[in-house]
Amino acid sequence: MAKQSWAHDIYRHIIAMLSLLVIFIIIAATYGTWHQSTSRDLEQRLNHYHLESSSYYLKASNELRHIQTHLSGFNHTAAPHSHTTNQQHLSLANSIHLINREIGHALSLQNKFGDPRFTQMSKTIQQHKQFLTGLTASQDSSSTQKKITTHIPLILNSLTQLTLLHDVSRDKLITEFKQNEHNNSLVFYCMLTTLLACGLYISWRGLRSIQTIISAQQQSEERIQHQANYDALTDLPNRFLLIDRLNQLILDAQRQQEYIAVLFLDVDHFKRVNDSLGHEAGDQLLVEVANRLTCAVRDGDSVGRLGGDEFVILLSHFSQLTNISPIIDKIFQQLQTPLAIEGRDITMTASIGISVYPDDGQNSAELLRNADSAMYHSKSDGRNTYTYFTENMNHSTVRKIALEQQMLAALERHEFEVYYQPQVDLRNGHIIGAEALLRWNNETLNNPTPDEFIPIAEQTGMIIPIGQYVLQQALQACSHWQINYFPSFRIAINLSPQQFRDPNLVETIASEIERHDISFSSVELEITEGVLLSGIKDIKPALQTLSELGIILSMDDFGTGYSSLSYLRSYPFSIIKIDRSFIRDLFLDPKDYELIKAAISLAHNLQLKVIAEGVEENSQQHSLHQLHCDYAQGYLFGKPMSRNNLEQLIKQRAGDQNSNNHFSSELTVSRSFYQDS
Ligand code: C2E
Ligand code: CA
Ligand code: CA
Repeated sequence: MAKQSWAHDIYRHIIAMLSLLVIFIIIAATYGTWHQSTSRDLEQRLNHYHLESSSYYLKASNELRHIQTHLSGFNHTAAPHSHTTNQQHLSLANSIHLINREIGHALSLQNKFGDPRFTQMSKTIQQHKQFLTGLTASQDSSSTQKKITTHIPLILNSLTQLTLLHDVSRDKLITEFKQNEHNNSLVFYCMLTTLLACGLYISWRGLRSIQTIISAQQQSEERIQHQANYDALTDLPNRFLLIDRLNQLILDAQRQQEYIAVLFLDVDHFKRVNDSLGHEAGDQLLVEVANRLTCAVRDGDSVGRLGGDEFVILLSHFSQLTNISPIIDKIFQQLQTPLAIEGRDITMTASIGISVYPDDGQNSAELLRNADSAMYHSKSDGRNTYTYFTENMNHSTVRKIALEQQMLAALERHEFEVYYQPQVDLRNGHIIGAEALLRWNNETLNNPTPDEFIPIAEQTGMIIPIGQYVLQQALQACSHWQINYFPSFRIAINLSPQQFRDPNLVETIASEIERHDISFSSVELEITEGVLLSGIKDIKPALQTLSELGIILSMDDFGTGYSSLSYLRSYPFSIIKIDRSFIRDLFLDPKDYELIKAAISLAHNLQLKVIAEGVEENSQQHSLHQLHCDYAQGYLFGKPMSRNNLEQLIKQRAGDQNSNNHFSSELTVSRSFYQDS
């Protein structure tokens, strides 16, 4: 019996011990999981916080570097109040705004977590921030620029320190937390021996999660770094990285006495692709350009995208300048092959400007700016070509700025004058009207031509008041000629695409015509097809309204762009003006002859009238007449002339035409008298 109860006791003890062990295991497992999960939470929270604030500081730092490169460009701009400088200031103010925003984000994060270790640094950053904010109002004085230049390294330094401080404090907090947990926990001591296995398991789990956190953090830091340096669409280096690389290349080239070529490339007519095929197609084209450029250059050369359709290529390690040409040839070859976008074959071309270190600039800002100027010369040379920078190009920038500055006052000083070029009916040589062409009388600027100043007026928006001036002058003259000489006299006025940005355009035109008491059908508005591709919205309804009023719309410079006649049918044009270049080559190039012939007969099928521009020779006049061209305009009939001179001509013609004489036979005699261009 005693033996039995002893055995029973042992049995009971074993069961008790086993159940105790099970309880221990349960407690241990629970504690383990709890401990692991709280420390993991803490780590996660700290890592997240660190990552977030670092990314803000990183963005702020990048903007600061952007300002730094910008400022180096400031000193080279001659005119302090010019358009370019205003743009620079705008972009500087924008950068400062971005920096303040990023720093603001990071500081508010800090306030939320309230770690005392950051307080001192945060105060310093706050001061820098205030300094920058105070600047925006008066950025144009050179002393302020100097102040910014000395201030930037200080801010950059503080930002780096803060990021480092986040790193240190995060590690420290994690270790402290772990140590305290271990010391204070009695449960932990009790279980230490029995739970070796669990402990090992826990630490293995812990290690694994820390590893995951660290690699995730590394990845997102790399991602942030990548985003800051590479273009999102093409994955090419962006402006910051390119400038960084160029600076490095300059240092190398200095040491090795070598040349660097900076190529500034702009895709020709990119806007047309965007406007006609959509932005997705535009993006596709840019990615393709990026790929082809990368294929064209050698390993070690850099291709980057500045934004939009602008790319920069850095070619380095040349001992001779002649070695650059084969690479440029290769770039053009690469771009030549048509690319298929949305089921269409598109042939793209590009204009390139080249500046060379050390000849064309000592630093990255100068080299980029000069390559950019050279690129503009390629554009005005007819595109699809390359141009090396020359000192002259700087002069043309200076000239452009001068025109821009004088233009506003020119209107008030009455320097603009409207000239008139007669348009004739080819069947009988009678004057049917005139085209109004603007002149700028300014001796100091050497009387700029419209081809030179109209594009500038378009860029600055001055075309709107200038356009209104032309409209008023031309309508007034037309009204006078109608009353005194020809009741059916027609006036043709050029409209630039930019004028369609004026929401009051249609209303202004209509009320001006009414004010001058002339019929809508004696006014012709000349519009180049650029207007249809300009992407300015509401153009079609505007043209529709103008045409419904009875105003005649003519397509100017026909043949120089992409329009087909059938395309024209969807717009309310009633006249096409065949561009001067076709008329000039009428007898030189049989293709031009055929083209004009086809264009005239197609236009007539579509009930459109045809005006030939730039008729200089009798032979051209006769051919055009044989091809049934309706009207003509050109030096043969009269150069653009002042209002008074055209009036003399009209007076004389009115007499002639009344007595049924055709003026074309007398033209040669009177021509020289009236030609004042
Ligand atoms: P456009 O509208 O094509 O004007 C015709 C141009 O050809 C004028 O140049 C005229 O002088 C020139 N021309 C006419 N007949 C002949 C000829 O037989 N031989 C040659 N070689 N040239 C001839 P201009 O006056 O220098 O104007 C150039 C351009 O400036 C115009 O081209 C037009 O696009 C623009 N423009 C002129 N005035 C205005 C204006 O008031 N408003 C707008 N938006 N643009 C204007
Ligand atoms: Ca015209
Ligand atoms: Ca024209």
